[in-house]
Amino acid sequence: MIIVMERNATPENIKKVTTMLAEHGFKVIEHSGDIHTVIDALGDKTSLTPGRLAALEGVKEVKIIREPFRLASRDRKEEDTVITFPNGVKIGGNNKPVSIIGPCSVDEDLDGLLAVARAGKEMGCEFLRGGAFKPRTSPYEFQGLGEKALKYLQKAKEETGLLIVTELMDSTDLDLVCEYADVIQIGARNSQNFKLLQAVGRTNKPVILKRGPANTIREFLMSAEHIMYQGNENVILCERGIRTFDSTYTRNTMDIASIPVIKKYSHLPIIADPSHGTGQRYLIEPLSKAALIAGADGIMIEVHHDPENALSDGKQSLSIPMFKDIITRINTLTGRMHYEKTCLSANLD
Ligand code: PEP
Ligand code: MN
Repeated sequence: MIIVMERNATPENIKKVTTMLAEHGFKVIEHSGDIHTVIDALGDKTSLTPGRLAALEGVKEVKIIREPFRLASRDRKEEDTVITFPNGVKIGGNNKPVSIIGPCSVDEDLDGLLAVARAGKEMGCEFLRGGAFKPRTSPYEFQGLGEKALKYLQKAKEETGLLIVTELMDSTDLDLVCEYADVIQIGARNSQNFKLLQAVGRTNKPVILKRGPANTIREFLMSAEHIMYQGNENVILCERGIRTFDSTYTRNTMDIASIPVIKKYSHLPIIADPSHGTGQRYLIEPLSKAALIAGADGIMIEVHHDPENALSDGKQSLSIPMFKDIITRINTLTGRMHYEKTCLSANLD
């Protein structure tokens, strides 16, 4: 439930509501807005009916949230969530979609990583991605360079100013990853690792949460809810394809429809990862464009300086020249879409 207080509600009125909620076992989150105080009440509403709360002095309205993902739901928050980084980059809302590029995993070749980062900067990307801790299907494959990779990413950030996205696989590495990352990535395989979600939920770092390969949209949003329930509302969803019966020509089935569906039911930003979504270089441009047209707030693409010798996901990684070529056309599209959106909102005002 959400309890919206009257604009002239007194601190005593608010206290009475929060006390009653707490007594009935609700978790209470209070937001003091410029006009109204709004209270999120998370718990079992059979123990305290909305009618009883509505009767209290100073209560303007009690709203029932229909979806099980209460904090992530659009019923709770109508306006889009926008995540703002210290350098001014924003994700979500009417902001220009962001580009996150970089290798699947960071390897020993620092110069190679720097070359990718420079290309990203030159082409107007905002984020450099790169795995230091890699979830691999096989224990015999490269598992990531750990802290050394984080240090390489930091070097690239120092030189280019690109913000860093890197995956966290285990909460024992949380402090280390937080030291270097601007955004923590929770990978598809850990999308329902609820303890890990809770751990990142207790930080205030932005989190890119990937959709689990077998997760419904509702399950995906419930994973976001686990992070938000711990207090971290800086969640960016990432559609990266799901596993279906058809993997004949693609690695996964890129569920573009999830983007507008999530926009309808949630206020959280969502980005798209066509590299993992399709596993095919030639599909990255059309699927990036499709995702952006469907409303994605950004794209994440794997780019490696030498894909043939990459230690993971080389087959789906773009080389630097391929990336520059494709991103030029994607930038034209996002520029045009952003221009139209801005004109439209200017006309509406
Ligand atoms: C990755 O981003 O390199 C990755 C492992 O992706 P996913 O978790 O979506 O498979
Ligand atoms: Mn990868």
